[in-house]
Amino acid sequence: MAVEPIKIAVIGDGGVGKSACTIRFVKNQFHEQYDPTIEQTYSTTVETEEFGSLPVEIIDTAGQDDYENFRSVSISYGQAFLLVFAITSHKTFEKMESMLVEAKEDAPKIVIGNKSDLSADRKVSVAEVEAWCKERGFKYFETSAKNNINVREAFVDLVQQAAKKRQHTRT
Ligand code: GDP
Ligand code: MG
Repeated sequence: MAVEPIKIAVIGDGGVGKSACTIRFVKNQFHEQYDPTIEQTYSTTVETEEFGSLPVEIIDTAGQDDYENFRSVSISYGQAFLLVFAITSHKTFEKMESMLVEAKEDAPKIVIGNKSDLSADRKVSVAEVEAWCKERGFKYFETSAKNNINVREAFVDLVQQAAKKRQHTRT
């Protein structure tokens, strides 16, 4: 029997690098520009020690200023959520709070502080994010889609959390 794919929704403010992280993970590429209005789904496979080879579907969300659109997509699609902000913009960090309201409450979530290559322009301290994540039980990864740092680690961790949760739900 074919295994159902694990569905991940990538959410966060515009311009934080949702598409860049997704494309880095799925294709190992980085594009300086990616259409900010395109919402796209990607299929890939993740190898895990515990669960073997797992099919994964990722929706790279877009157009989240359109609240209704964001709402319907994230709620109906995601079984696990990657919350992305950019360490160079405090506003994008603050935005996660309101996005969280729309994500399924009991779904696994991971927080990504992207653009770590721009640390000279950092506006969000690691301590601040870690405190926020600790309160909510989320793991935190600082990533650079551009320099290929930590992106795979974050996605794989989330896939494993989702696979574990699925296993528990079934038995
Ligand atoms: P989205 O709106 O969240 O999907 O953001 P995009 O993936 O389209 O990225 C927005 C902009 O940030 C683009 O110009 C990217 O090239 C740039 N960007 C994305 N990730 C990184 C990163 O890790 N480092 C740097 N320096 N720029 C990035
Ligand atoms: Mg995008």
